[in-house]
Amino acid sequence: MRTAILVEDDRIAVIDPTNRTADQPGTDVIDGRGKAVFPGLSNCHTHLHLTHSRGIQEDFGFPSSLRFPSTVAAFMSQEELGVFAALGAIEAIRSGTTGLIEIGFDVPSYAAVIARSGLRLVLAQSCSDVVADAVATSAMFSPARADASLQRVAETIERWHGAEGGRITCCVAAHAPEACSPALLRAARTLAESRRLRYTIHLCQSRWEIEQVMRQRGVRPTEYLSQNEFLGPDLIAAHCRFMTPSEVSLLGRSRAFVSHNAAMAARRAAAPPIQALATAGCTIAMGSDNMAEDMVEVMRTGLFMERVARQDAQSPQPEDVLEWAARNGANALGHGQIAGSLEVGKKADLFVVDARRPNLVPAVRIVSAFVHNGQPADIEAVMVDGRWLMRDRKVLTLDEKNIVTRAEAIGQRAWRQLVEKYPDVSFPIRLPRGGAA
Ligand SMILES: [Zn+2]
Repeated sequence: MRTAILVEDDRIAVIDPTNRTADQPGTDVIDGRGKAVFPGLSNCHTHLHLTHSRGIQEDFGFPSSLRFPSTVAAFMSQEELGVFAALGAIEAIRSGTTGLIEIGFDVPSYAAVIARSGLRLVLAQSCSDVVADAVATSAMFSPARADASLQRVAETIERWHGAEGGRITCCVAAHAPEACSPALLRAARTLAESRRLRYTIHLCQSRWEIEQVMRQRGVRPTEYLSQNEFLGPDLIAAHCRFMTPSEVSLLGRSRAFVSHNAAMAARRAAAPPIQALATAGCTIAMGSDNMAEDMVEVMRTGLFMERVARQDAQSPQPEDVLEWAARNGANALGHGQIAGSLEVGKKADLFVVDARRPNLVPAVRIVSAFVHNGQPADIEAVMVDGRWLMRDRKVLTLDEKNIVTRAEAIGQRAWRQLVEKYPDVSFPIRLPRGGAA
């Protein structure tokens, strides 16, 4: 189909199936022959800064069976952590992401760095009030820690919500059911409601979490959230694995969004009950979670996992998965009115695929071709707010060469320092002394 899309300022002004719009004088015309334009993808659960652990932590389960007493991040300055957040933002752009939620305990320290990416960001500073993260009882939750943690969330909202012409917004992140007391859960939701924000939590991420919550509260995680009025239509519940039918129904009745982090779920050998959650009333969106920002891979893994789970070679279809990652994702992030689909009046948040690549031809059903066989390298341009973040496969908003070079050097150094500091911890890779140049 030969259709012209006219972008004026930050919005889609015309979608013209007759393809005559391009004749208007003064227009920067891009020849779309052999190309396909997709609505930008929304990553509804990620931690950009954790790209520092890629190629390592994917293989040790969760909680990690790598038993270092410290994280690798402890060997990096805040500025160096920001390099990894920027690295993640570059990968996100290259995979067709236009919107994403960044979740972490120190988001303000690198928010300015990722704001420069041009992505439509939702900054989600996390709160938690658990004093120790192992064998916790309710006595180990600290009201002082809850207050300090929520204060940082409030400060992040104050500084960033609505920044950059509204391109950057905020969300309240309660870390996880085992790490938040009833009082903190209630306060976090109240804070979100008072600012009309979405809020999010890791939910049923691991069997360990479920054991912890059962021990602390005597109920399963979703029941614990329900008892503390944390469930609702503004909640983005991430993961949702290992759920019982009664948890599925509780979450469904609340009309919450579910971030299906398919690639990470598959790595962790855990298939969330996506079809049951959708039937129960949840809206399914998608996220990449740690170490990778590749939403093309997330869509494909989501399709594969669901077909295996349903034992149905025809369900879901690629269009369903694109809807999870684009339209539903934008809705989850609070961008539903302005993004998530190619419609006149919406923001120009989109990406352009070269449909003449050897892995895509013949592009008779381009959505199917791209979901089944697409790669980030097929994406040649990405636009947010009518501004090119990448064009002709060159990222325009961040210095990719410099960031990749620095991330490689910092990552090599920090992992080597961690391994050398704890020589008794079993680590499966012998790291070269001195690291990469
Ligand atoms: Zn997470």
